Amino acid sequence: MAARALVPVAILLVGAFAGCLEEGKGTDLAVDPLAGTPEGALLALLGSLPEPDFDRMKAVDWWEKFVKDNDMRQYPLPKNQLASTTLESELRSAGFQARIMYNFGGVGYQGTNVVPAQGNTPFGFKVVQGLKEGTGAKDHRLVLISHFDTVPSTPQGAYDDGSGVAVQLSICKLLAKVAMNKTVECLFFDNEENGLLASQAYANWYAQSKPQWKWDQAFGYDMVGLNWPGYSKWKLYSMIGKPTTEPDAFLASHNDFLDVLAYDYLGPKLNVTTDGVEVLRVHDRNSDEQNFKRVGIPVVRFAGGRKAADYPQYHKEQDTVEFVYRYACECQDLAKGKETFARGYELVVLMSYYTILAYDQYDPKALPF
Ligand SMILES: [Zn+2]
Repeated sequence: MAARALVPVAILLVGAFAGCLEEGKGTDLAVDPLAGTPEGALLALLGSLPEPDFDRMKAVDWWEKFVKDNDMRQYPLPKNQLASTTLESELRSAGFQARIMYNFGGVGYQGTNVVPAQGNTPFGFKVVQGLKEGTGAKDHRLVLISHFDTVPSTPQGAYDDGSGVAVQLSICKLLAKVAMNKTVECLFFDNEENGLLASQAYANWYAQSKPQWKWDQAFGYDMVGLNWPGYSKWKLYSMIGKPTTEPDAFLASHNDFLDVLAYDYLGPKLNVTTDGVEVLRVHDRNSDEQNFKRVGIPVVRFAGGRKAADYPQYHKEQDTVEFVYRYACECQDLAKGKETFARGYELVVLMSYYTILAYDQYDPKALPF
């Protein structure tokens, strides 16, 4: 793949940018060997993005409190409602237009019953939505997805999917501070565990009612943080989902885009290599993003674990904060485990931040690698 062959050059280029920025000299490179190439255009864009101000321990503290305060949050228990209002107010204080959308009456989850936030009834399946309007192509949305409900067997649902909710909220808070071309839509779904029902209703509503705006790209988070560089047994997997089964051309441009981003740009910055992060040519995880793929929306999924069942407490009672910490460090020292988990969590947040901002500027198909 072309991007791989360019790694040494890309490292030099990014190094040069970093040096210039540190010394406040601007980016007047004498020679830009990638000028005019897709890799060069993408790397130049990434080099110009604002550095995120992210505190990983504070973020993990929030996750810990969220899963403990909102234990037993399966539909339709009271904590299910509490979790949704907590997320709504978090989004609002981060600067999003926030609301809870209800699927009225629990009838026919075919989309027609999804009413975007007119009513305020506490019944039905919920989607917590944060919107931040873009400054340019505001009818184009980049959508982030996770689920806040749990299965009855996992009171805390710390990893499934407290981790995805917290990571996504961290990313959305960072994106709220950056001027963006497209609109960001930050979605937390109810009833994933009962058959992806809330996302199914919303995706069907989108397909049937054809709103004025369009989803360009979705980003999915379900079970993340237990991954390199904290957790040592497995990598972070980035998966690219395609809406249909045929077009390899579609996958190829997305994969090349992510390769440049992960290895050529974040390589020198975050020490990302193929040993720590793998960009897979497949998306085979069953979660809410399946409904987005079904209605034609390409999906990038970040996964801390190749399969859900790789995590030993998947849908089991001990899917708890304490277990995640012990599992992260393979030790009994909870403080050490917390730091280890936080490092994996941070990688997902930072990789997502840059990936989403790159997608804000480019359609991968517009960069023929
Ligand atoms: Zn899940």
